[in-house]
Amino acid sequence: MTRAQILEADLTWTGAAFESGVQVRVDDEGRIALVGRLDQRPTLRLRDRALLPGFVNAHSHAFQRGLRGRGETFPRGSGSFWTWREAMYELVEGLDAQAFYRWSLQAFREMRAAGITSVGEFHYLHHSPGVESDFALDELVLKAAARAGVRLVLLQAYYASGGIGRPLTGAQLRFRVPSPAAYWERIERLAEALQPRTQSLGAVAHSVRAAPPDEIAALYAESRRRGLPFHIHVAEHPQEVDECRAAYGLPPLVLLLERLGSAQAVTAVHCTHSEPEEIERFFAGGGRLCVCPLTEASLGDGLPTLGAGAAARGLLCLGTDSNSRISPAEEMRWLEYGQRLRARERGVLRDGAGRVAPALLRAATLGGAGALGLDAGAIAPGAWADLVAVDLNAPALAGWDAATLVEALVFGAGDEVVAATCVGGDWMEHRDGGQGP
Ligand SMILES: [Zn+2]
Repeated sequence: MTRAQILEADLTWTGAAFESGVQVRVDDEGRIALVGRLDQRPTLRLRDRALLPGFVNAHSHAFQRGLRGRGETFPRGSGSFWTWREAMYELVEGLDAQAFYRWSLQAFREMRAAGITSVGEFHYLHHSPGVESDFALDELVLKAAARAGVRLVLLQAYYASGGIGRPLTGAQLRFRVPSPAAYWERIERLAEALQPRTQSLGAVAHSVRAAPPDEIAALYAESRRRGLPFHIHVAEHPQEVDECRAAYGLPPLVLLLERLGSAQAVTAVHCTHSEPEEIERFFAGGGRLCVCPLTEASLGDGLPTLGAGAAARGLLCLGTDSNSRISPAEEMRWLEYGQRLRARERGVLRDGAGRVAPALLRAATLGGAGALGLDAGAIAPGAWADLVAVDLNAPALAGWDAATLVEALVFGAGDEVVAATCVGGDWMEHRDGGQGP
């Protein structure tokens, strides 16, 4: 099957602006070959549409889609991450393979309908209920993403302890990976099951709560040898920071920097309670930061303090995390709005030209692609043809002009403006309500 096509939308995002008259040539394999004024007749003319790179969701736990609407009442007083985690463990207790697959598929389909063309699925729920090590759920993630038509980086998680120095208990037994050696064996099996064009792997230590630093360092070293991206949850709540300091004398992000010796290819998720100087050191070591504004708000976790430099340098990315709501548009604007509410000023994440929306769009596209090790996130030669076509007649965009369209999209529009998406040259229309194939 050839995926070769020449696309022309009314407007195309070329990295810093929307431009008209731009054609995108896609090759047989589904990668972008050329972009520009090619003077060729388009094979697909996207009228009344603007073309953007597809959004990259750098952090998701798809099965948690099954929690939507739950855990939002507080009969025993106010809640926290830890009370929410009880609800999540309850879901885990009752979730068989079929339900796990169903919720994963639902989440991935909603993602694609919202314009997400790639997802990094941080996958730690490995085993069937009551079974300690069948890893039966891993391949269901691959299957669900393929069926939903979303590009997947399976971020396979290592999970060994139920807190620093504590054994796994209850629902956590379904997360267990017996040893780093067993982990890499599993990675090799999964590598054989991937769809070659749309699926790849990343290495993960769940958090400093779930693995000791020497094992995290060994996993990271091996991930570098294999050229895999490496992800880890960091400092989502103060208790983790306190326990990490008590056990190792350092806060989690600094501990990781010291033990890993580098932050190249490392994406730290959250860093909510990391100090700005720690985050700067981490960036200087080559690391990236994934923020999940809607989940952090939902859980009452708080926000990391970010400066203008972080977004402008392309070091931020975004994740839908708990999937209580799947909306890249909302994640983008709340990345900035959270900082506005914290700093009580506007334009916190502005780029060198003083613009915020392009910096937020960059986090939702190129930043995520960088974190996941993907050739994606830009309409540029060599990247996969992973695209979003936006309906320029959508009511939320009425009054648009090319100069301010990116601001109108990021700050004023919802997912309903996503008319169609393309993953590796394969298009899907979302006029049918976005349920996909
Ligand atoms: Zn997470």
